[in-house]
Amino acid sequence: MARIVQKFGGTSVADIDRIKHVAQKVKTCVEAGNQVAVVVSAMAGSTNQLVEWAKQIDPMHDAREYDTVVSTGEQITVGLLAIALQTIGVDARSWLGWQIPLLTDDVHSAARIEDIKADQIIDRLEQGQVAVIAGFQGIAPDGRISTLGRGGSDTSAVALAAAIKADRCDIYTDVEGVYTTDPRIMPKARKLDSITFEEMLEMASAGAKVLQTRSVAMAMRHHVKLQVLSSFTDTPGTLVQNEEKQMEKQKVSGIAYSAEEAKVTVVGLPDKPGIAAKIFSALAETHINVDMIVQSASPDSQKTDITFSLARSELEKAVTALTRLKTELAFVALVHDDNIAKISVIGTAMRTQSGIAKLMFEVLSEKKINMQVISTSEIKISVLIQADYTELAVRSLHDAFELDKID
Ligand code: ADP
Ligand code: ASP
Ligand code: MG
Repeated sequence: MARIVQKFGGTSVADIDRIKHVAQKVKTCVEAGNQVAVVVSAMAGSTNQLVEWAKQIDPMHDAREYDTVVSTGEQITVGLLAIALQTIGVDARSWLGWQIPLLTDDVHSAARIEDIKADQIIDRLEQGQVAVIAGFQGIAPDGRISTLGRGGSDTSAVALAAAIKADRCDIYTDVEGVYTTDPRIMPKARKLDSITFEEMLEMASAGAKVLQTRSVAMAMRHHVKLQVLSSFTDTPGTLVQNEEKQMEKQKVSGIAYSAEEAKVTVVGLPDKPGIAAKIFSALAETHINVDMIVQSASPDSQKTDITFSLARSELEKAVTALTRLKTELAFVALVHDDNIAKISVIGTAMRTQSGIAKLMFEVLSEKKINMQVISTSEIKISVLIQADYTELAVRSLHDAFELDKID
């Protein structure tokens, strides 16, 4: 007998038939003799709709009220799945974040999980009851509902698996596992049998939304056995695991993209200590997450430019915050572009193999795609390009690194 967490994403619970199908899958797992906790997302599209409604009233809405609104999608699906399970003879009950309780910090709309008081859940699991848990939500220190950022149900599932010491955390989604790149834009993308935690972390943070980045970091830290698989087919998925266990050793494991980036350049800044600190403190105070940063070398040590990238949705806030600093920092101009994509090539083999950057840059230049900013980590190379070229870049790189072929 094992204790298993099964997480079902939005497409897997998109309508009543799919919820009934999920109930059958849970039942099979229970009948195999397992204790089962299920984490569910809202029905596909419903969180987007809720976010949109909050924005329509006020784009700068109170984050606590935003959480009250956007957490409701999961309240519907946990209740429906519990009913579907009861109907087919499986003992089940629903749990909202505050009922567990799943405690978070106070950063409403992007809260971090601080603790899960899992005693009640464990008791019920031991009595043979299925726990159907609302993903994405918790309770903040102010006693109000919090949410974990978009895609946060993955993190709820992994955190729960760690808290109840589950033997496995299975993330059921609408594709058969983790692929060499997003199978929706590259039909030749290949499903990976396994991927290292480190590579998955880089893939997720570079835009592969199949797992929320925080869920991967948490699984790595708490040694949660993590698997991504389809709720629509019975084929084996992808295991996310430690590097020692990794058999596949291709040059590159995957290509990720994020097509919703923006870029800002602060032109003509005085080249002296403290200027960058002022810019990035102003952005941090506005809770803006900055991604890549480059400062150009100044030929005369008088003036310099700083360029950074950020999520497109944050651009307006960033421009407002920096415009306020124009007189104090005495910069010449603020230039921004909201049509930017980030393309990343990822693989632990980069530590030992050379020529990966060379091939990446050659491919992009052959396709006449201009690289605007480049950044590297030990196992990743990322470039910013014009967003219109996203698919062309991903497909050309996938072909060039022969990711459709197994080593
Ligand atoms: P869920 O609602 O189940 O959480 P998501 O939409 O959040 O599902 O994540 C699954 C989607 O992630 C897939 O439909 C796919 O388009 C996208 N995706 C992006 N990159 C990858 C990748 N490398 N492998 C698999 N899926 C990916
Ligand atoms: N429903 C939430 C979202 O759409 C959480 C999740 O699906 O993981 O972001
Ligand atoms: Mg998701």
